[in-house]
Amino acid sequence: MAGCGLFVTGTDTGVGKTAVAVAIVASLRQNSHQAGLRVGVYKPVASGWKPDDASGDALQLWAAAGRPLSPEAVCPQSFAAPISPPRSARAAGRCVDEQLLRDGFEAWRRASDIVIVEGAGGLFSPLAEKTLNADVARDLNLPLVVVDTGRLGAIGRTLAVVRAARAEGLRVAAVVISHVEPMPHDPAADTPAGLGAIARANAADIAEWIDPVPVAVLRHAASEFEPSIDWAQLARG
Ligand SMILES: [Mg+2]
Repeated sequence: MAGCGLFVTGTDTGVGKTAVAVAIVASLRQNSHQAGLRVGVYKPVASGWKPDDASGDALQLWAAAGRPLSPEAVCPQSFAAPISPPRSARAAGRCVDEQLLRDGFEAWRRASDIVIVEGAGGLFSPLAEKTLNADVARDLNLPLVVVDTGRLGAIGRTLAVVRAARAEGLRVAAVVISHVEPMPHDPAADTPAGLGAIARANAADIAEWIDPVPVAVLRHAASEFEPSIDWAQLARG
């Protein structure tokens, strides 16, 4: 079972990947029928983050996983400027270590039953001078969880990433609509053009377009997916 996992990616940056990755980790740890399932977390590179900032993706992932290994193992490479990792590294007079993007995963493969990886930016955003998120997902042999906000345009953004991923030989395990802001819970209180109604309609339409790939919604600040998804099964392929 070692080496199982999921690569959480997005249709863009800022679409709620970290919230989704954290909720997947929590779900795996809570709902696992196997006591003691070891869940690893990995962020190959981060930009716009200083390693002592608890709001950073790596420390959120690490806390969700129960603080296994070390924060440095979660994210071996981080750069301060809030721009793409290769440019952020260059701004610091450094460069992203392309091999370490892959090799940093090995400690987790050894120490975990399932590893949840969060990319940086969207699926075709660069992680290094010569490496896109899609390249690392392929090299780590992990299926994708594609995240979008559900805002207007979600169907087009999501299908573009799902179809491009498949054209690259990647497998899409699930799509998650991640509400990056609060939306009305009560459909009756929401107009057809309201944010909540659009997000619900988009999730339903995407599900039809990519059937049988599961589509779930993660509400703002929520910890449960709607509907629930068996992440362990998806991670094991
Ligand atoms: Mg993130």
